[in-house]
Amino acid sequence: MFKSFLIKYAEIAVKGKNRYIFEDALVSQIKRALSKVDGEFTVRKVSGRIYCDASGDFNYDETIAALQKVFGLVGICPLLQFNDNGFDDMVEKILDYIDKTYPDKNKTFKVFTRRARKNYPMQSPEVCVAVGEKILERFPEMKVDVKNPDIKLNIEIREKINVYSKIIPGLGGMPLGTAGKAMLLLSGGIDSPVAGYMMAKRGVTLEATYFHAPPYTSERAKQKVIDLAKKVAEYAGNIKLNIVNFTDIQLHIYEKCPHDELTIIMRRYMMLIAEHFAKESGCLGLVTGESVGQVASQTMQSMLVTNAVCTLPVYRPLVAFDKQDIVDISVKIDTYETSILPYEDCCTIFVAEHPVTKPKLSCIEQSETHMSEDIDRLMKEAIDTVEVIEVTP
Ligand code: ATP
Ligand code: MG
Repeated sequence: MFKSFLIKYAEIAVKGKNRYIFEDALVSQIKRALSKVDGEFTVRKVSGRIYCDASGDFNYDETIAALQKVFGLVGICPLLQFNDNGFDDMVEKILDYIDKTYPDKNKTFKVFTRRARKNYPMQSPEVCVAVGEKILERFPEMKVDVKNPDIKLNIEIREKINVYSKIIPGLGGMPLGTAGKAMLLLSGGIDSPVAGYMMAKRGVTLEATYFHAPPYTSERAKQKVIDLAKKVAEYAGNIKLNIVNFTDIQLHIYEKCPHDELTIIMRRYMMLIAEHFAKESGCLGLVTGESVGQVASQTMQSMLVTNAVCTLPVYRPLVAFDKQDIVDISVKIDTYETSILPYEDCCTIFVAEHPVTKPKLSCIEQSETHMSEDIDRLMKEAIDTVEVIEVTP
């Protein structure tokens, strides 16, 4: 029955002069999403609305699923679309649509009409009344409710006539590519993939950095991170993933610094290296999956101390989220099952029994002076030996 979809977008409609930038980004993201679906589509922007039309057979469920991964889109309306062959013909098509779409007729409804084609012989309110009467005649169980109808039947009179009543929810957010790029510190855990998703939802393009510590962390742990990046890429588009060998830096810190400060010092070095790659590729900020109080390294004091090494802003989209809320999102975006695979993480291998929870910046900086110039060489080595993977969805 459906060959076309009307795309609803909310937030981006209010962007004034820049509106076209957002609409064009949304159109190109919709095209990207549909390029993976069985079928041929054209995506059109017509007077402030976006339509997707299938030109032949296509997989309806796949199409909806693909559109439901596009940020910036709040609703997908499957359109009944036909040529104007007079009022009676239109009514017949609408009645048939209602009959098929709502097997249970015990519903209230209201008709909305937009007449974009002003030479249409009836005015919008007339169309509403006349179609409403025909519906009541054909389906006596149905009732009109102008305040809170179960069915909002929309009729758009354009070149063709469009009819829709169902709005399949989209993700919301902003179209990808409208907000600059950020460097995600991506681990194998639950939080950082969700953090990346949240930033991408605001239109931010992602690059990612993962620190591994072979042989203390395995190939499987690394593959898990690649798999997670792939899942995030289904929403966020291609992600360049930097895989950094962190072993020697970790061993050096372990050897030279107090063990209760290991985690915090290690995290400062992770930030420094991630920031190096971030700047190199034009990222405007770093992103982590931290949330206040979740673990020792995520107290306000710890975050202050880690931030102190960065000059780029550090975005922490989950900072005020409860763990369960993060888990809920990871289930929704399908990263959860991968995240909970029990492979070791470089943070948990060298972890102290009682890490400091309220580090003081001056003390940490003092401890770091115990490391020889070796650390600079190790940093350079880690950066020079980075492995880069282009992760595609
Ligand atoms: P996650 O679930 O994202 O692993 P976590 O609860 O395990 O987070 P931490 O280990 O304190 O928390 O890590 C905090 C943040 O630091 C992570 O969300 C991630 O952004 C970054 N991070 C931690 N370990 C790594 C790593 N090995 N490689 C890259 N980033 C990391
Ligand atoms: Mg972790």
